Amino acid sequence: MDIVKRTGAVSGPAIHALGQNKCRQWRFGARAVKHLPMRPDLLNPLFAEAGSLKGVGPGLARPLEKLALTRVRDLAYHLPDRFVTRRAIANLDEASVGENVVVALTVREHRSASGRGPYRILAEDVLGNVVALVYFGRASFTAKKQLPQGEKRWVAGRLDQFGQSLQIVHPEHVAEDSAGLIGQLNEPVYPLSDGLTQGRIHGLVEQALTHLPALPEWIEPGLLDKMGWPDWHAALLAAHKGTHEPARDRLAYDELLANSLALLLVRAANRQRTGTPLHGDGHLRAKLNLPFELTGAQKRSIAEIEGDVAQGAPMLRLLQGDVGSGKTAVALHAMLMAVESGTQAALLAPTEILARQHAETLTRMVAGTGVTITLLTGRDKGRARESILMGLLDGSIQICVGTHAIFQETVSYRNLALVVIDEQHRFGVGQRLMLTQKARRTPHCLAMTATPIPRTLTLAQYGEMDVSRLDEMPPGRQAIDTRVIAQDRLADVIDGLGRHIEKGAQAYWVCPMVRELETEDIAAAEARHAALQARFGDTVVMVHGQLRPEAKDAAMERFARGEAKVLVATTVIEVGVDVPNATLMVIEQAERFGLAQLHQLRGRVGRGSEKSTCLLLRGDALSEVGRERLALMRETQDGFRLAEEDLRLRGGGELLGTRQSGDTPFKVADFEQIARLLPLAHDDARLLMERDGGLSSPRGDAARILLYLFERDWGVQLLRGG
Ligand code: ADP
Ligand code: MG
Repeated sequence: MDIVKRTGAVSGPAIHALGQNKCRQWRFGARAVKHLPMRPDLLNPLFAEAGSLKGVGPGLARPLEKLALTRVRDLAYHLPDRFVTRRAIANLDEASVGENVVVALTVREHRSASGRGPYRILAEDVLGNVVALVYFGRASFTAKKQLPQGEKRWVAGRLDQFGQSLQIVHPEHVAEDSAGLIGQLNEPVYPLSDGLTQGRIHGLVEQALTHLPALPEWIEPGLLDKMGWPDWHAALLAAHKGTHEPARDRLAYDELLANSLALLLVRAANRQRTGTPLHGDGHLRAKLNLPFELTGAQKRSIAEIEGDVAQGAPMLRLLQGDVGSGKTAVALHAMLMAVESGTQAALLAPTEILARQHAETLTRMVAGTGVTITLLTGRDKGRARESILMGLLDGSIQICVGTHAIFQETVSYRNLALVVIDEQHRFGVGQRLMLTQKARRTPHCLAMTATPIPRTLTLAQYGEMDVSRLDEMPPGRQAIDTRVIAQDRLADVIDGLGRHIEKGAQAYWVCPMVRELETEDIAAAEARHAALQARFGDTVVMVHGQLRPEAKDAAMERFARGEAKVLVATTVIEVGVDVPNATLMVIEQAERFGLAQLHQLRGRVGRGSEKSTCLLLRGDALSEVGRERLALMRETQDGFRLAEEDLRLRGGGELLGTRQSGDTPFKVADFEQIARLLPLAHDDARLLMERDGGLSSPRGDAARILLYLFERDWGVQLLRGG
């Protein structure tokens, strides 16, 4: 019953929205908890709105928001992508093409844009060498004012060659005297969004950096010394001034430390809680009549779970296993442990489709045991819903499967002792906390994920949990024949699809859903659906995220029953769906997916006894890394290996061309830093917790500030026993 009050704070739509967005997920914990201890005043200047800075009008609000730069803190942490180094030269003969220079020029002539061409200003150096200063669009308005005819100006920019002549496109600076420009020979280049310029962001960051408070040191002096890291304040300043590795490492380390510390606080708080020790006698599990022998990995995981739930403190365990590794059977065993002890269990799935499938699979599995399983989704209304709620309240329903609807305010359980969360990565730490907070009796929690993530990232995302890995696949799995094919052979692929369904087999056809403009992707998927339907008739069905749930379910059901032969989908089918007769998967624009995602998609086939095929269609503008990634897909089917390689390839840069840490809970630390520094930060956090679990020493105090700084304050909140 306690879970009702605890989860009441999270509304359904909130959970849903959060599931879509990692960054928001991590801030969620901070916002959702109402009675937070106050953020230390010390940090107020950093958490002031970006709008409080000089020169931030309404026009800048959107561009800043797009980069998630809403507070002074965000601007201070908006680190440059790179630095340009310029050379001051006396004349253009001294420079080579492609070089960034500062040079004095005299403006000779303005040439207006002809048609859609750029605005060109011809200028010459002291030797009479002519260079064109080129401006596109609105930039020319400013240029006209800055570069009056006949005047001398100092110009900074990249010298390029255009045909026979020299040009500088959009000079970065124009000044009347040299002093300012000479001072900027080494200049940061910031990530931008539409509506922002380097100059603008530069000014804002500079202002933000004048608002930095003095903060106590949370890193151990010994480590600072050993690594040669500056203090926090100096590190932030240095990271904006130049390629200062120690400074950037220190800032990344701060973030990693905050994260590890928060997770360990969750872990420690969990240990203080009271769960319901479960000592199932196995009588129901013995009645199970599964058509297979459990794998060694499944048995081991079940034993680990059994050990956990017998304890007084609630279990907090992650079950990590590749698609098809048999997590459902493990979850069932865990839930039966609860039922055997006279308590209830719930299984939370991220989508209705999955919840439905789980309910069906589990019901089939428990046939003959007398265990009652019910599906509860947001779509259950009226009488049907009432009767389910009654069953949960009086305990006649022993296992409840559903979406987040199963934790709504109106849902009460008689004695819920175990919660299984499927596809954990869709739920953030904040939500996990909501499920386990402030109860007299906290349910045991088993989180399951099929996203194979590298060990270091497992630590970052799930550092508060114990981990069981299903690293052994059930026997008899066939290798999936994976091929990379150029998109322009689409017609052949469609012919192949025709032969495939003629044989009575089924197929998935996946279109990417990764564009910023989601509607464009939907349009592309719908167009493909229409084209395939025109050819193969209404045996082609479609699911995507913007369909009504009824329409989605209807399509899925027709496909699952075998009436529909081709399922055109966006990544909605990514998780869980199980149709053994589907033995062909076509993935369009495969290069736009992450390796982990491709791997999960591919896991939809190869589930039956027939040989399966996966065709990865690639566009023609494939980068070197892109090529390597698709080749890896062909080479291996081991999800954990793909994850490690993906991390390596991304660590090398290049997935999206910027230093990114997408898919991780980090904004400052990049992949390479995560891999190198996270284990260190985690050990450090553990040590601090061992020495000062209440964070009451001076260093503990500093660590609290760190938690607030990185919005891991849910960690602090737990500390107060809130
Ligand atoms: P996932 O880990 O992706 O959730 P599932 O639990 O859906 O995997 O299992 C995938 C398939 O493998 C199911 O059809 C299931 O019945 C089957 N399966 C599970 N465990 C075993 C096993 N030990 N031996 C053979 N088949 C198994
Ligand atoms: Mg599953």
